Amino acid sequence: MSITYSKVRCIVDLEAIRHNYRLMKKDAGNVVPVIKSDAYGHGLEQVARALEDEGAANFAVGYVQEAVDLRKAGISGDIISLLGPVDMDDCEAIIEHDIVGFVGHFETLARLAYKADGRPVRISLKFDTGMSRLGFTREELPKLKAFLRGRPNIVPVMASSHLAVADDPASREITAAQAQVFCEIVEDLRASGFAVQASLANSAAIMGHEGCRLDVQRAGISLYGGNPYAGTEWESLGDDLRPAMQVAAPVLHVHTLDKGRGISYGHTFTADRDMTVAVVGAGYADCYSRGLSNTGWVNVGGVRCPIVGRVCMQMTAVDLSPAEAAGVQVKTGDDAWLLGGPGDGRISPQDLADWWGTITYEVFCVLGMNRREYPDT
Ligand SMILES: *Cc1c(COP(=O)(O)O)cnc(C)c1O
Repeated sequence: MSITYSKVRCIVDLEAIRHNYRLMKKDAGNVVPVIKSDAYGHGLEQVARALEDEGAANFAVGYVQEAVDLRKAGISGDIISLLGPVDMDDCEAIIEHDIVGFVGHFETLARLAYKADGRPVRISLKFDTGMSRLGFTREELPKLKAFLRGRPNIVPVMASSHLAVADDPASREITAAQAQVFCEIVEDLRASGFAVQASLANSAAIMGHEGCRLDVQRAGISLYGGNPYAGTEWESLGDDLRPAMQVAAPVLHVHTLDKGRGISYGHTFTADRDMTVAVVGAGYADCYSRGLSNTGWVNVGGVRCPIVGRVCMQMTAVDLSPAEAAGVQVKTGDDAWLLGGPGDGRISPQDLADWWGTITYEVFCVLGMNRREYPDT
């Protein structure tokens, strides 16, 4: 959360997140909630607390600083930093706060060992099995094991890898191949005396790839009600997930737009008939993308109304014709829902992501930067 200059409200249903967590556990047993990037915009500390109530003890964050924040908030279980350590400060923080950092390169390992200077450090070894971003390769395994044998204070407690195409049923062979390589790496490590837990699955793999469910699963988007299989043949696997985020903005003004008049910058929309429009107090400065201009919809009083003209910095106009046709009276001060909202007009994260030309992950992360409310706490 960092936007404080607007009237946009981001309303988070923690019970929905708990529900989604229970669903993932039912499928996959040991599930570590991924709460990086401020819990995908839902609130790092609030989500951690809500899931603690549900029995979660361990959490995965992104950078080490988030892990430190979580420790300072009183989380005492294992905290895994998926993107840490990056620099010397991170190395020190990892040691001081007993954080399990993902380590995927020799430079990082050397830096950590130097900083540790004999003090014990637990790490998760990260392997690249096909994502081609970060991680040791299988070929580096002998050198890695040799390095670790010489540094008994650096203790690998986990081996991990990340899947590139788990959300695409058509690419399941690629996911299976990644799992195969990863399992061989884990076996090799264990045969060499390293007692690592194996962690491979993200949400998509928890839901759709049984062969990827190993000791520890890492669930992110599913906890927030995003369906990684949306638009694919496996879409129904996400039917029971419940979106947790709704976003509302006030109607600032309602007026008539006469036939032939243009609206908003550039007059990219011209009324083809007399119509009533509402000016909604949200725009791209509130992370409501300008790409939604003339494309997205807003839920007003339970009815979806189309955006007309360009999304501005702090304002967006919608055509109220559908609301009027449904007998809904709209006035200044009413809530207009950019995400969620009441009735049949409810806007799902996937709908919004589709209009926006992105994925639910981005919708949550950026809209979650608005002022948040937690009604059930
Ligand atoms: C973000 C992330 C996850 C969670 O992925 P989802 O698709 O959101 O479930 C798991 N593992 C790593 C390494 C990640 O960065």
